[in-house]
Amino acid sequence: MARYTGPVCRLCRREGTKLFLKGDRCTSGKCALDRRSTAPGQHGAANKKMREYGMQMREKQKTRRYYGVLERQFVNYFEEADRKEGMTGENLICLLERRLDNVVYRMGFASSHKEARQLVLHGHFTLNGKKVNIPSLIIKAGDVITVKESSRDSVKFKALAEAAASHNAPKWLEVKADAMTAKVVALPAREDVDFDFNEQLIVELYSK
Ligand code: SF4
Repeated sequence: MARYTGPVCRLCRREGTKLFLKGDRCTSGKCALDRRSTAPGQHGAANKKMREYGMQMREKQKTRRYYGVLERQFVNYFEEADRKEGMTGENLICLLERRLDNVVYRMGFASSHKEARQLVLHGHFTLNGKKVNIPSLIIKAGDVITVKESSRDSVKFKALAEAAASHNAPKWLEVKADAMTAKVVALPAREDVDFDFNEQLIVELYSK
């Protein structure tokens, strides 16, 4: 399945929640969901009752869209989460949190997952001193993510470092915004993820 290139605010309206796909706009008065909360389409305003399968499907789509992951990749994450010890749903969210593009977003060096993905793809970061350009790379405890030397003096990264300085990073990341670096001091736990996921619905969907 190809990456979605249509209007992203439509995705928030479909899921009925803010997915924070447009950076600063999402927290401004210009958020499309704040202005129109009905689902997109001709019958979007109709008060449709969702069945069990519909709820499970919506939760999966919401999670997938929040992290900007394609369907096939998402299934792979689920299978990996299922193989690990512990609760599959929690494992799934923790795995998604450990994607490199998400880590850059959590560091505060990008205003959306999409921007973080772009920055990683363009090779602006190093992982433990080595250049990386794979957004889906899964980080480990102890890893150090740094803005590449040659990108640091750019106007863009100076502005991003300034934004990161006032950003609330999760406790599993030790961010030094002025040095443009972050260390993964622990692996993220489910309670560290401040977003309303009902991962159990996803587990039920894939367990059919
Ligand atoms: Fe979603 Fe952001 Fe658009 Fe609001 S502005 S609808 S949160 S993408």
